[in-house]
Amino acid sequence: MNKLKVHSLESFGTQDGPGIRLVVFLQGCNFRCLYCQNVDTQPLCSKAEIEMSVDDILKLLEKQKPYFKNGGGLTVSGGEPTLQAAALVELFEACRDHGFNTALDTNGGVFSPTVNKLYDLTDLVILDVKHIDEEKHQKLIGASRKNVLKNAEYREKSGKPMILRYVLVPTWNDQDEYLHRWGETFKNYKTVTQVELLPYHTLGVYKFEELGMDYQLKDINPPTPKNVENARKILSQYFSKVVVK
Ligand code: SF4
Repeated sequence: MNKLKVHSLESFGTQDGPGIRLVVFLQGCNFRCLYCQNVDTQPLCSKAEIEMSVDDILKLLEKQKPYFKNGGGLTVSGGEPTLQAAALVELFEACRDHGFNTALDTNGGVFSPTVNKLYDLTDLVILDVKHIDEEKHQKLIGASRKNVLKNAEYREKSGKPMILRYVLVPTWNDQDEYLHRWGETFKNYKTVTQVELLPYHTLGVYKFEELGMDYQLKDINPPTPKNVENARKILSQYFSKVVVK
C-alpha cells in the first residue's frame, strides 16, 4: 500500500470545496509559479513531511464525520497532489467506499492514465488554469499549459463537476485580452459549476526569504479592487457564477 507524503493538514477548511473539509496538503510540485504562496511544498521531499497511509487519513475523516453534514469531506491539495496519483487512487477508492466526498485541488500539470483514473474517482475537481497564453504560462509558471488543457477537456468529457480557478496577477494575466481568451476557451464547458477568481497576494513572500530564494515578483502589487472587478465582469460574460475568493 502506497503512503502519501504530506506537507500539512487543515482540519476545518472552508475554501477548497463545499462545506467543512479536511484538507490534506501534499509535498512536491511540478510547477514553479513565480507567485507561489506555499513554496516550501515544491520540493519532492522535505524533512518536515509526514508519511500517512490511507487508513491514517480515513481515521481522521471518521473523527470529523459529524461536521460533513453540509456536503463537506476530504480535499487533497498541494504542492501538486497528482504527483502522488497512485496513492491517491487508493485513498479516493476508500473514500468512495466509506461515503466520503472527495475534492482534488490541482494545477493540472500531469496527464496520465493514473491521473485520468483519479479524476474519475473524484467528486469535484478544482483546476487552476493560470494563464491562457502558452508563452506567458511558461514564463509565469515555469511549465507548459498543454496538460492543463488536456485535463480540463478530460474532466469535461466525464460530465462530472469542476471548479476552474484563476489567480489574477497584475501585468501578467489581468489584461482584458487574456481574460477574454480564457473565457472563450471554457465558455461551453457544461461541467464548470463556478469560476473562482483569486487576487494575487504577497503573503507567501516570507517563505521565499526563509528559503533563501529570489522572489521575482517584488515589483508587482496585489490587484486593486477596480482590477478585480474588471476581471470579474469579463469572466461573468462567459460563466454564470464567478466568485472572488
Ligand atoms: S502549483 Fe501551487 S504549489 Fe505549485 S508552484 Fe504553483 S502555486 Fe506553488
